[in-house]
Amino acid sequence: MAMMEEKQAAALRQRFLEVRDRVRAAARASGRQEDAVALVAVSKTHPAEAVAELAALGHTLFGESYVQEALAKQEAVCSLMGGEAGRQVQWHFIGHLQSKKAKDVVGRFSLIHAVDSLKLAQNMQNRLAMLPVTQTGAPAGVQDVLIQVNIGREPQKSGVAIEDAASLAEDVAQMPLLRLQGFMCMPPFHCTGDMATPFFEHMRTIRDAVEHRLGMPLPHLSMGMSHDFEQAIAQGATLVRVGTDIFGTRDA
Ligand SMILES: *Cc1c(COP(=O)(O)O)cnc(C)c1O
Repeated sequence: MAMMEEKQAAALRQRFLEVRDRVRAAARASGRQEDAVALVAVSKTHPAEAVAELAALGHTLFGESYVQEALAKQEAVCSLMGGEAGRQVQWHFIGHLQSKKAKDVVGRFSLIHAVDSLKLAQNMQNRLAMLPVTQTGAPAGVQDVLIQVNIGREPQKSGVAIEDAASLAEDVAQMPLLRLQGFMCMPPFHCTGDMATPFFEHMRTIRDAVEHRLGMPLPHLSMGMSHDFEQAIAQGATLVRVGTDIFGTRDA
């Protein structure tokens, strides 16, 4: 495996282990099992070597936001680690997707976090119907997805409007090749730490209501980033997406 410079690699490992411990501690503090919250290490803008370094520590879940970068990195990680170990790595797509990009992501990520329109969901469903099998270990042709909700009602932010979340969920739940697993949200940029709590709480109440209305379990809540993942866990997050606190600051 091509290595990072050892000093850099040691710092990365240490930051990762600290975040992992904080996630576990926050889960325990909210009365949940340590493994009830999965840590998605957000590797966008960081090299495949950094992903391989954490995978060698046994961490196998990574998140990416940009399609071309993600697909290239998946290949690079496989070739750095070798096919078998490389295939243990699971990738989540966490970024915004234009509906015309649906064809590039389905079957290539074990979870897509940010479905936010009927058009995008329909394009995914249509594409999946054309694929022979997925490459992610999910049942053939089935793609796990979350719906992103614009929880801060921000005009520039992606995500379905709060008022439309239930009806989009209902539509997605009826698509045979999409498996709706829950919701994702991002509070407004400046609402970090405890200021993010009401947004996370609101997201959870929306999830509970939609679960009730559809009569199906929606187990996942993807919420919480470097500045607020502990608050998100306290409100029921099952997936936290942490980039900066693990990999360091991004130039881009
Ligand atoms: C970049 C990104 C993250 C990680 O943010 P950090 O503040 O670096 O932890 C989480 N979620 C999404 C959707 C992102 O695009």
